[in-house]
Parts: sequence; structure tokens; C-alpha cells
Amino acid sequence: MSIRIPTRLYTRLILTLGLLLIVSFTTSCANMGRWTQTIDPEEVSKEDLKDIPYEVTPEYNFKVSIAKNVPSNKKNILSNVDRQFRQFSRCYDLKDNGTEARKYMIAVVDGTFECKYHGGKCNGEFDPGAGLIIASFKAFNRKGTLPLLKHEWAHAYGILSSDHKNLKTVKKCTRY
Ligand SMILES: [Zn+2]
Repeated sequence: MSIRIPTRLYTRLILTLGLLLIVSFTTSCANMGRWTQTIDPEEVSKEDLKDIPYEVTPEYNFKVSIAKNVPSNKKNILSNVDRQFRQFSRCYDLKDNGTEARKYMIAVVDGTFECKYHGGKCNGEFDPGAGLIIASFKAFNRKGTLPLLKHEWAHAYGILSSDHKNLKTVKKCTRY
């Protein structure tokens, strides 16, 4: 024996289920913080970044300023910067102990930020004129924290050309 559901009720049921599905999708999207950052990059003012008080890393004495909304403590970030430079230095057999890199203040921002390149969205920027390296703490589609830092150092050391023509060969040390 089969139970017959009236067509009208059936249509309503499907409509309700559909609506529930849509609602659940939009709610999960709203929770994806990183999406918002990618779609809507953070505005950064280089003047402001230079004025933020900075810390100095224990090993290489790099100046590092950290934006307030970065979700990590200062100590972790500073040792992260030193560790990444140690790896970078070893990979390229650099002997300057960070002298070239020390010319630039590293400004750590939370996520993807506005810039002049890549359609206005960046996760790292080397700006020698401003004496700055801006680096996203977390970047969409990139592994780890401060994922573009080595890439920007490669620009600073002249290892990576500004047009990225040799990026393929550089990536073995910088990953991105
Ligand atoms: Zn680059």
C-alpha cells in the first residue's frame, strides 16, 4: 500500500527544502572570513604603516611592525621572521647576515591587502622607495603564515626580477 501525498503539499515540501538549503549555504559563506578578505582586500596606508611602533627580531634585528588585527602574538611572529630568513639565507647561500633585508621594515598585515599590482590584491609587496616590505599574515590559497615573505626578500636581494620572469627557478627557495 502506498501513501499518496497531494501534489500541492509535495511542491511546498520541495520549496521549503530548497529554501533551507539556500539559507544554510549563505550562512556558511558568511562564516568564511578569508573569502571576504580575498574579495574585499584590506586598505593599507604606507604612511600609517611606517608610523606603527615596530619590534626588532632577536636573531637578525629586522624591524617588524604588526597590525593590531593580526591574530598571533608578537613573539611568534618575530621568531617566524627570523626562521624564514635563516632558511632563505641558507637556500641561497647568502653571507650578509641580513644586511640587505634590514634596510626594509616588514609590515605585517592580517590578510590580503590593496596594492597597485595583480588587479589590486596583494599578499606581499616590496616597496624599496618606501623602505617597506608588506606581508600578509595569512593569505588565501597560500600555505602557512607570512607565506610571501621569502618572495619579497628575493626581490630585495635582486634574485627575483620585478617582472617575475625567473619566478620558476626562484620558487625552490621561496615556495611562492
Ligand atoms: Zn613579486
